[in-house]
Amino acid sequence: MVPGYEAVIGLEVHVQLQTRSKMFCACRNATGSAPNSHTCPVCLGLPGALPVLNAEAVRMALALGVAIEAQIQPESTFYRKQYFYPDLPKGYQITQGPVALVEDGFLDIPGDARVRGKEGGVRIRVERAHLEEDAGKSHHDMDGRSSHVDLNRAGVPLLEIVGAPDLRSAQEASDYLKALHRLVVALGICDGNMEEGSFRCDANVSLRRVGEAAYGTRVEVKNLNSFRFVRQALDHEIARHGALLERGQAVQMETRGWDASLGETRGQRTKEAAMDYRYFPEPDLLPLRIDPAEIEWARRALPELPERRVQRWREAYALGLEEAQTLAQSPAFAAYFETVAEKSGSGRGAAAWMLGEVSRTLNDRGLGIEAFPLAPEALAELVRLVETRVLGFGAAKDQVFPAMLAGEGSAESILVQKGLAQVSDQNVIEAAVAQVLAANPGPVAQIRAGKESLKGFLVGQVLKAGQGKLDAKRVNEVLSEALAKDRT
Ligand code: ADP
Ligand code: MG
Ligand code: ZN
Repeated sequence: MVPGYEAVIGLEVHVQLQTRSKMFCACRNATGSAPNSHTCPVCLGLPGALPVLNAEAVRMALALGVAIEAQIQPESTFYRKQYFYPDLPKGYQITQGPVALVEDGFLDIPGDARVRGKEGGVRIRVERAHLEEDAGKSHHDMDGRSSHVDLNRAGVPLLEIVGAPDLRSAQEASDYLKALHRLVVALGICDGNMEEGSFRCDANVSLRRVGEAAYGTRVEVKNLNSFRFVRQALDHEIARHGALLERGQAVQMETRGWDASLGETRGQRTKEAAMDYRYFPEPDLLPLRIDPAEIEWARRALPELPERRVQRWREAYALGLEEAQTLAQSPAFAAYFETVAEKSGSGRGAAAWMLGEVSRTLNDRGLGIEAFPLAPEALAELVRLVETRVLGFGAAKDQVFPAMLAGEGSAESILVQKGLAQVSDQNVIEAAVAQVLAANPGPVAQIRAGKESLKGFLVGQVLKAGQGKLDAKRVNEVLSEALAKDRT
């Protein structure tokens, strides 16, 4: 950052709502079907077709609204935003304005201490969240000659969540976006698939002198579809603005795109080329009216929110912030973890397995936790055997876990079959230690002379002598005692 300046960032996030039908018609809201198979006169924009508001989309927007403690507007209205594009059959998009269903909410995130000058959480205001409809999809690369339009997505419900310019670094922007992502997934209103565009983000960024109240000229970076791109694009923009300001040049207000292969943003259109959308009220839809009972209902229907859950786990299981956040990534993952933690009696052990072997297996196989072959109770048994030191971690990870995945039975039965029970018998361990010390006079002498780092080598030798079945913690203790005794 250029000395004396700070970054100001505000995110606009488009969340595709996972309703059964589209925003204003009965067509299915589904991906992966044959092109243009989910279309009708309404979403094709045929003359005379009338839109009907989707109550499920309203319920989902309300859920977000109460979750971020926003002011739910008793009456909000719809607007037409006019522009011409091949994938917009009506020639306009129905969106909300000037009043949105959801206004003035907030999300709390951990602040970036490097730019805030102190540790601690910060509150990021959400200016508004409004309902609107998505456009179709254009494909320009299908046959190398012509462009194709698929209108299955046209009219799919979107919730646009407009954040206030309260973020002060790329790190904070990414933390805010992750918190929002966890939230919409936990609420069950969005599948959260960023690659497929179900959760997309435009980032606005400007620089200003520290202490100044007015904002600087902003640039909008469009369509960032991963947390990493958001961080990289913003860091790149902050550096670019800083360099301009240092040279005494002005930042131009414009829209830019992120080029992931070049690792830089590129100009798309300037303010002079900005469009006039000729907004006007949608004559075919009544104002959206919400009564207090509906808001109360939405409040009562809220699940435990991810940030709350993260807090509870941190206290109950002594987990780190990032560990707990990763475990809370989706309701299904969170529920699985919670069962393993309860049944195994070890939250920390359960967390380590979920973030380690389980996540690795899911990644390798391209699966979600819903399709994980082991029941949480089965994994809990394995975790318990390791935590009570009946089974060594190495044997659990390399032999028992893979055998369980291969369907060879429960953790306990595999342990018995393969004879993997860990040996903690004092006499056995002492004998193995004595044997290794006798066989390694050189290292022993070096350790006595102060080269403590060699102890790990001896521990390894003892574990090897015990064919991986000795309790590593006990081996460590016995070895330390033996070395200390030798010295005196
Ligand atoms: P528009 O109507 O052009 O979309 P908005 O006022 O709705 O403009 O703001 C859009 C987004 O830009 C919001 O997320 C807001 O936080 C952000 N924003 C506005 N001004 C600035 C600024 N100077 N620097 C960074 N972000 C900004
Ligand atoms: Mg906007
Ligand atoms: Zn339709």
